[in-house]
Amino acid sequence: MNILVINCGSSSLKFQLIDAETEVLIAKGLCERIGIDGSQLVYQPAGGEKEKTVTPMPDHTGAIALVLKALTNDKTGVVKSLDEIGAVGHRIVHGGEKFAASTMITEEVIKAIEDCNELAPLHNPANLIGIDACRKLMPGTPMVAVFDTAFHQTMPQEAYLYGLPYEYYEKYKVRRYGFHGTSHSYVSKRAAQVLGKAYEDLKIIVCHLGNGASVSAVQNGKCIDTSMGLTPLEGLIMGSRCGDIDPAIMEFIAHKENKSIDEVMDILNKKSGVLGLSGDFSSDFRDLEDACFEGKEEGVRAMKAFAYRVTKYIGAYTAAMNGVDAICFTAGLGENSPLVRNMVCDRLGYLGIALDQEQNNKRGEDLVISTPDSKTKVLVIPTNEELAIARETYALIK
Ligand code: AMP
Repeated sequence: MNILVINCGSSSLKFQLIDAETEVLIAKGLCERIGIDGSQLVYQPAGGEKEKTVTPMPDHTGAIALVLKALTNDKTGVVKSLDEIGAVGHRIVHGGEKFAASTMITEEVIKAIEDCNELAPLHNPANLIGIDACRKLMPGTPMVAVFDTAFHQTMPQEAYLYGLPYEYYEKYKVRRYGFHGTSHSYVSKRAAQVLGKAYEDLKIIVCHLGNGASVSAVQNGKCIDTSMGLTPLEGLIMGSRCGDIDPAIMEFIAHKENKSIDEVMDILNKKSGVLGLSGDFSSDFRDLEDACFEGKEEGVRAMKAFAYRVTKYIGAYTAAMNGVDAICFTAGLGENSPLVRNMVCDRLGYLGIALDQEQNNKRGEDLVISTPDSKTKVLVIPTNEELAIARETYALIK
């Protein structure tokens, strides 16, 4: 069965068509600038050339109509008709406490996702638009919602409660939810396979280091803690997000700079992280890495602070699990930067970790990068959220 995986943002949409039985990618692509001038579709059948089409996409329904046309067209299409698409899997950012697992999309589920909108105002409404557009264009096709938060729902209360009046949890569900769950789940399971061990027997720390970044502690196959919180602002220092800060800083900056809460929030989300730390030099870790190699101070201080925070979380989660068997690096930076992996692991000698630099310098595959006698194993596992969504969708449809 072919599964169409849709990851819908406010003005963009990523898609993959995957054969669920063989797990082979059939085609993939991206719609950009939906509802904005200059919108374009990038479409690539597996093994074929990338096709770029600049064409108006007034809304997401228009964008998905173009995607379906590309998948079925006579020349470079990969299926004869939409009947060959057995189901659609939608990535949904926030499922609140309602969704601890993926679910078939019904009217009731759509309503429950809408109820989570205020917890992820930038993401959930866009995800819902994607569902709506697909239901219009493929009315008979079953659809599944796969939540970024679901994997973290196994966290115990002591890990998900904040030190706030309990009534805020009771009234508003203010608590830690965590994000990137599909990636943390996929990578931790894959790590167990690569190590040839039972998932349920391992203590694993996953470092998802991309533009957004988070760490999770996975003990005996269940997430017991993760660094992102009520929103994806908490935890690690990120591309442009601040991660953990003293909450009193908000009031302090608001006074000093004569700014509103909204303006300060905007700074914490979009002008902080390594972008802010590097004095607006770049939020792109490639630029910062280059700056480090050139010895530029702005790059060095941002990367050092970034890596230090990851190391601290690894320490905290080792304590939370009373040990750790494997540490995994994934996502754009985690998968591609030997430098950052070295910087993070430099202070992990107490875990008996030693990196094999030849392995650490390889790219693009599942790798054990620690030496054979390293007590704790260190791995690089390229994440594949789309495949994970296709698997979840297929499991529910079957
Ligand atoms: P993601 O959010 O997972 O797509 O990751 C995006 C981040 O990964 C960006 O900041 C990129 O600069 C970073 N990244 C991608 N490729 C590399 C690379 N080869 N070396 C260092 N960082 C990279």
